[in-house]
Amino acid sequence: MSRTEVPPGTGRAVRVAAGDLVRVIDVDGGQVGDVFAFRDSGDAELTEHHSAAHTRAGVDRLFPAVGEAFLTDLRRPILTLAEDTSPGEHDMLIPACDPARYKALGAPDHRSCAANLREALGEAGLSFAGPTPQPINVFMRIPVGEGGRLSWLTANSRPGDAVTLRAEMDCVVVVSACPQDLVRISDSGLSPLAIETVHNGGTRS
Ligand SMILES: [Zn+2]
Repeated sequence: MSRTEVPPGTGRAVRVAAGDLVRVIDVDGGQVGDVFAFRDSGDAELTEHHSAAHTRAGVDRLFPAVGEAFLTDLRRPILTLAEDTSPGEHDMLIPACDPARYKALGAPDHRSCAANLREALGEAGLSFAGPTPQPINVFMRIPVGEGGRLSWLTANSRPGDAVTLRAEMDCVVVVSACPQDLVRISDSGLSPLAIETVHNGGTRS
């Protein structure tokens, strides 16, 4: 098992083989994480990626459930939600926070999950030329109310709560400890996340 710390407001990338487990841990509780996944073909330029839209269409659900897969833009399973020790609320409707979002909030130089994604990929020697994929927002609570209205609630995950994802193909997983502190989605200030990977004897080339 190896563990990667994700400091508050930053992002980190890990590479895993098909069959490996990726655990995203909310170290102190109440922290939203943006999770991105790309097929790892061995090339530095990534193309196929997790798509929230294709996943919703594939599983007939708005939000992830244990045992169900996340699909790529080519409709292939890339990750499966294997285990969840949190209260179980995660979002697949809201895009990653980005510079335009913070500019509109009056903080143009604020860190963002979109920039964290590019930074984390760069540190791993990888890149993705497309627009920021819509992430799996772990621990983020966006319930759908009457008439389809969305509410932005504060994360209620507890210290040490974790979601465990099983890789269905060799992939690169990026986790951003969301720096959003202008809209209160994380519980109390920004806190770290951690990524644990468990190698299951896959045959990564
Ligand atoms: Zn964010």
